[in-house]
Amino acid sequence: MAGTMGTMALRLITRIGWFSLAAAVIWQANTPGCNPPRRAVTMSGAANDEAPKVAKSDGEWRCELTPEQYHVTREKGTEPAFTGQYWNNKRQGVYRCVCCGTPLFDSTAKYDSGTGWPSFWESVDPQNVGTEADRSMWMSRTEVLCRSCNAHLGHVFDDGPAPTGLRYCINSAALAFEAKPPSNEDPGGKEENSH
Ligand SMILES: [Zn+2]
Repeated sequence: MAGTMGTMALRLITRIGWFSLAAAVIWQANTPGCNPPRRAVTMSGAANDEAPKVAKSDGEWRCELTPEQYHVTREKGTEPAFTGQYWNNKRQGVYRCVCCGTPLFDSTAKYDSGTGWPSFWESVDPQNVGTEADRSMWMSRTEVLCRSCNAHLGHVFDDGPAPTGLRYCINSAALAFEAKPPSNEDPGGKEENSH
């Protein structure tokens, strides 16, 4: 009895599995421009900072991002507190835009705000991180965006620690962490190689 039920369930799952696989293939084939993610072009100077440097269609972003990454960055969503990948990440490295790879925040400016979102007291470079007034959700807040691709990152508040007093409250889903390689630049260690 249980064996028959198990077999039936397995057949059903197999059938659903194949169906969704076929559907995914058809969907992919009909979605234009599923190219691998491109890195942001680093531009010197900010003469032309009105248009995003990385501009892609909605379909392209949907292709490249997970549903959560898409919701946060392209639909100005917010991940639930204490659920993201990086709120408790204490490793040394750089946090890049998950959409375009632009460096946004460094671990040296990360601190534990207790909010459940990755929090920083400054960005890597004001050229890379933009802000905009946000009056949604019956609040007056300042939205934080990637200046290269206009990805929504989170919000910035003025209750952060010294020296800036700022708290960049950022969604993990908007970030891609790149750990710093272990440092081999120890000048004392090089003496061992001399004969
Ligand atoms: Zn970006």
